[in-house]
Amino acid sequence: MHLARFPRLSLGHFPTPLEALPNLSRFLGGPTLYIKRDDSTGLATGGNKTRKLEFLLADALKQRADIIITQGATQSNHVRQTIAAANKLGLQTQVLLEQRVDKFGDDYQHSGNILLDNLLGGTIVEHLPAGSDMQQAMEALADQLRAGGHTPYVIPGGGSNPIGALGYVACAEELLYQSSQQRLRIDHVIHATGSTGTQAGLVAGLAATNSHIPVLGISVRAPREKQEENVYSLASRTWQLLGARGELDHDAVVVNSDYVGEGYGLPTAGTLEAIKLLAELEGILLDPVYSAKGMAGLIDLIRKGRFGQGENLVFIHTGGSAGLWGYRQLLEQQAR
Ligand SMILES: *Cc1c(COP(=O)(O)O)cnc(C)c1O
Repeated sequence: MHLARFPRLSLGHFPTPLEALPNLSRFLGGPTLYIKRDDSTGLATGGNKTRKLEFLLADALKQRADIIITQGATQSNHVRQTIAAANKLGLQTQVLLEQRVDKFGDDYQHSGNILLDNLLGGTIVEHLPAGSDMQQAMEALADQLRAGGHTPYVIPGGGSNPIGALGYVACAEELLYQSSQQRLRIDHVIHATGSTGTQAGLVAGLAATNSHIPVLGISVRAPREKQEENVYSLASRTWQLLGARGELDHDAVVVNSDYVGEGYGLPTAGTLEAIKLLAELEGILLDPVYSAKGMAGLIDLIRKGRFGQGENLVFIHTGGSAGLWGYRQLLEQQAR
């Protein structure tokens, strides 16, 4: 594996810290918990998309793009980080937003990430109804821009394609290096999985380096079989892009979808508990769509005895705290 062969920009603060969670570990009374702070990647409140954008936007520059197109939900962290990163390169961003969630009123529609998108100066071209074919809508927008003499570069939702997933191959390398430095044996890696690029990159990177560290993705949206299939598909395409030998083992992709609740962007009681626990015990802010759903899954699995007492678990904090403001009313009830 030789990541330096791929064009890459420097857009964030890396390496992100790998820290202990002593209070949460004591509170749960199970395995020893650590957290990798990918919420602290530095780009306009940070998050996991920054790693992917280092490779994606390098590719965009190689192709001499002058406009970046991407899409996401109204409170997308990916859209926010993409606009911020493109700004650093002097590129315009045009965005399509999918109205996937319509329960949380004005705050959801105007605060949190969407407030930051506007502050960063991204162009929100259109709000499309839930279930729209967003990829097709982006292609149509790209055609229109090409007809106007532009060179658009289309980034899929969540930045999840093999080039974007290289960002999480890099994270796997970074984590292994930290594990050696801190003499920390890592028994499991756990994180929230959505558009699949994070898990695909981690799985490919941790397998290509023969680390034997299992990854567990906690789904925020899709049922288990579908998410495992999607993650495997991207992980094996990433594996090929890396030039790794043979085939990626199917068993390397493990997803648990028991913590989705009513659907994408709809926090469960466990999600809200995870936000409060991490805030009160560790001073860490999770987000209601992704990282707290992932953490809620981890907490429940620990309570059910899924992990051994002597094991070391690393939770990847994928970011998203900017989305908290979109859920103000719900969180205010919880805070009381
Ligand atoms: C996008 C996102 C995820 C999910 O990562 P994928 O690569 O899309 O699976 C997790 N947490 C946060 C905060 C995100 O914004």
